[in-house]
Amino acid sequence: MEVRRMKIGIIGLGLIGGSLGLDLRSLGHQVFGVSRKAETCERAMERGAVDDAHTHFGLMQETDVVFVCTPLAVMKSTVTELVPHLFEETVVTDVGSVKGWVVEEIAPLWPNFVGGHPMAGTAESGIEASQRDLFKEAAYVLTPTEQTPLSAVQRVEEIIRPLGTRIYHCQPAEHDRAVAWISHLPVITSASLIAACLHETDPAVFELATALASSGFRDTSRVGGGNPELGVMMARYNKAALVRSLHSYQNVLAQLVEQIEQEDWASLETVLQQTQASRPEFLK
Ligand code: NAP
Repeated sequence: MEVRRMKIGIIGLGLIGGSLGLDLRSLGHQVFGVSRKAETCERAMERGAVDDAHTHFGLMQETDVVFVCTPLAVMKSTVTELVPHLFEETVVTDVGSVKGWVVEEIAPLWPNFVGGHPMAGTAESGIEASQRDLFKEAAYVLTPTEQTPLSAVQRVEEIIRPLGTRIYHCQPAEHDRAVAWISHLPVITSASLIAACLHETDPAVFELATALASSGFRDTSRVGGGNPELGVMMARYNKAALVRSLHSYQNVLAQLVEQIEQEDWASLETVLQQTQASRPEFLK
């Protein structure tokens, strides 16, 4: 695939920003970074994630596209500080895990803004966690609105497609409802599983449970045992969709408890047959 060489800015040189930089540079783009800490900028240069990086926005001038890869909590203040440094044609996009709030707050700050969310990550964070090929075969959601210029969407696609991503378009609210089901609800339910296990009152049983825990517990507790800051961000910025999914989950769980208490094994089996048949739908 022929790649047009561009000048790309990345703000927030952590797991996502650093990983983007590594891949974009290997595709031949010029990559300039901005991060809060000078030592992060240094490490990003040493690791080859950026051509140059600083703690101020001067490097963002004349960039074709800027990827905002900071935590959600500082995204609005970051873009507010960024825009006076931009060339009129520059496209700004973000990688935040929530889209409704981001698009509502950031699109008014810059007309050439495209909301985005690469559905890739690891349990680690920071520049040391950045890695090549993180986005290969991953879904990458773009959430243009009626006001988003088509040329801005096309330019972001031109950059992210060669990373090996599968690009999806949807409305910000649709994105937030979908990720509430498959990403944010699992974080809370997995965390509640670990929290519930901590309620075991017999120290000997607790000790035995920790000794016996293996692959099943590893799979079901993985996302609940991740970075607490990210979990709080998801809940805070996607509250409505997450609460909606959690209420639905509570209803299903209450139904399952009832079936077990009533020894209604036939109904329980029906539900488990449905879940067994449906799981592959989510993992195509
Ligand atoms: P991360 O590894 O913690 O990286 C964020 C980086 O932003 C930090 O390394 C920090 O660098 C920098 N930063 C913090 N405050 C800043 C500020 N005020 N100005 C400039 N840089 C600042 O987090 P991440 O996992 O890459 O997540 C970044 C974004 O990607 C979030 O919005 C998240 O929703 C989204 N996302 C995450 C995942 C995931 O699985 N992790 C997946 C998809 C999308 P310093 O060292 O300089 O402080």
